[in-house]
Amino acid sequence: MKSVLINDITLRDGEQAAGVNFFPEEKLRIARQLVKLRVPIMEAGFPIASEQDAKGVELVANEFGRDIVISAMCRAVFKDIDVAAKALGDAPKRRIQVVMGTSDIHLKHKFNLTREDGLKTSVESVAYALKFSDDVEFAAEDASRSDLPYLVDVCVACVKAGAKTIELPDTVGYATPEEYFTMVAAVVKAVPPEVVVATHCHNDLGLATINTIAGIMAGARQAEVTINGIGERVGNAASEEVIMTLKTRKDFYQVDIDYINSREIMNTSKLIEELSQIKIAHNKAIVGKGAFLHESGIHQDGLMKSPQTYQVLDPKDIGLEGFQLVIGKLSGKNALNEKLSFLKIELDKEQMKGFSRFFKDNAAKKKFVTDADVINLYERWANK
Ligand code: MN
Repeated sequence: MKSVLINDITLRDGEQAAGVNFFPEEKLRIARQLVKLRVPIMEAGFPIASEQDAKGVELVANEFGRDIVISAMCRAVFKDIDVAAKALGDAPKRRIQVVMGTSDIHLKHKFNLTREDGLKTSVESVAYALKFSDDVEFAAEDASRSDLPYLVDVCVACVKAGAKTIELPDTVGYATPEEYFTMVAAVVKAVPPEVVVATHCHNDLGLATINTIAGIMAGARQAEVTINGIGERVGNAASEEVIMTLKTRKDFYQVDIDYINSREIMNTSKLIEELSQIKIAHNKAIVGKGAFLHESGIHQDGLMKSPQTYQVLDPKDIGLEGFQLVIGKLSGKNALNEKLSFLKIELDKEQMKGFSRFFKDNAAKKKFVTDADVINLYERWANK
């Protein structure tokens, strides 16, 4: 079964989310947590951006660059590469990532270059980066809006120049899964089999995870993802979504991701929530509060008989204790009973009938019923 390398880019693209700033020591804390999650590759920063960025990469590469691939981002500019190489130091698994636009939009408006000159710049930068590391990744910025034959030419030329990984970003979150599949398949076909093609998808249309999966289906062997999906604008493909989709639907996708210690997902997610100060939405897939909450009586009854009835994920797989039954107006008698016995309130059958009715009538007036509310309602009912 084929495997896919998770390249966690929370420390670089995640940090590019507006308002997020990871201090070097915080990067180290995040990197330690990512090691517990067992990611094999981390993109640690963009060293030319600031001294602080360079420091973060230096700390992470120094502590982990022996066992884990630590990558640093550069534009296709020699000065960027010099600074990145310095930050990575002599870490045995250092990787230099060179980014150059390949779409006509980027070539014309950002660089004022012809396609030919863009290709030349890419190749020269890859060759230059090889002076500092034999592990060079070339990223074709805005790949998904590039002319496909030209994109393939640039990728093939960069591989000939020595790039071992080719990254195909959907920089602006524009591609459909079908288009992304077609692009990745074309590049995979054009480069030698030992070259790793990587996905990198943004979520502007809410398609980042499915585009990543489409890329993997097309032959990509590396997925660039961020914890909680944080990143530029509305973010990147979320690590936890890609990992748990591949894990949960291994039967369908036939991709092995077992090396990841998914039980650390919740811990990692909480740490990123804390340090990025970006709150996780209640309805965020996998790590949102709602992921394992059940209020409807029909669902609660099913879950108590067998979790499989209404839950495709095992909460333990991401490091949680179990699913939670929320008591509310939709809850059934079984769930209410369970909640009462948890709260050490014992009622006989007749009492239960009476309280259950009282509870439903009154719980409907509240948005969210807490344990304290249940006790309070019980006391009101008992003292009637
Ligand atoms: Mn990006």
